[in-house]
Parts: sequence; structure tokens; C-alpha cells
Amino acid sequence: MKMSISDLYLWPLFLQFSVLVYLGWRYRKRGYHDLRSPKAHIFRCTNCHHIYIDNRRVPLSKCTKCNTLNEMIRR
Ligand SMILES: [Zn+2]
Repeated sequence: MKMSISDLYLWPLFLQFSVLVYLGWRYRKRGYHDLRSPKAHIFRCTNCHHIYIDNRRVPLSKCTKCNTLNEMIRR
């Protein structure tokens, strides 16, 4: 088999494309929401007992109703 110049350029492109397709398929199979849901943290307000979710990784979060700072009750 004789390798031409175009083959030398096309093979790396083809391999990179294959990796992208594989990664896309893997993320699609796992699910976009499955990747994000473990980041949700549950907070309970000590002032008004309102329960809310904050997706940011913070130790304290402001209550959406009364703006009191609360600690995370579950990761
Ligand atoms: Zn509150």
C-alpha cells in the first residue's frame, strides 16, 4: 500500500473525528442532566423554613425568600 500526501493528512483528521464522535456518544448516553444533578445542593432556611436548591458549590447560600444565609443540609 502506497501512502500519498493526502493520506498522511486525512488519517489524523479521521482519528480525531472518531474520538469526537465517541465522546459525544458517551456523553449522550450518560445524559446531560445526570452530569449536572449531583451538583445540586439542598438548603433549608433557618428563618422561614423554606427549602431550596443551589447549584453552586458554596457553603452558605442566601434564601430565595428572605435572603437569610443558610448552611447546606445535603450534598
Ligand atoms: Zn428564608
